Amino acid sequence: MVVFCHNATLKVKQPIRDADVVHIGNLLPLVASKQADERLTKFRMEKIRLLLSKLYIQDRHARKIQSQNHIRNIKSSMEERKLHIANNICPRCGGHLITRIGKGGSFKGCSNYPKCRFIA
Ligand SMILES: [Zn+2]
Repeated sequence: MVVFCHNATLKVKQPIRDADVVHIGNLLPLVASKQADERLTKFRMEKIRLLLSKLYIQDRHARKIQSQNHIRNIKSSMEERKLHIANNICPRCGGHLITRIGKGGSFKGCSNYPKCRFIA
């Protein structure tokens, strides 16, 4: 039995004929079908079902927490970036932001230009 999750890609040259290939979301129904084949005892089937359901719930929960942390980190870094710009500090290199005048009007540019090309 080959189980994959998320966007995994199976990299084999020949088709797999001797094993079941399944996404983790379809694993429990597949295991249940194996029980129908009577290859597994009811006791072993229940043990597997319990372990898999715990694993799947934990996986979904971990993914949710990871996603929430990712969004929180992005929001935090955006706020930090805005704060740096408001205080005339380059968020990229820590240099000073100075007001420059270009073709399109005034803008804030990094004092470390041309090493740092940050503009706001
Ligand atoms: Zn800079």
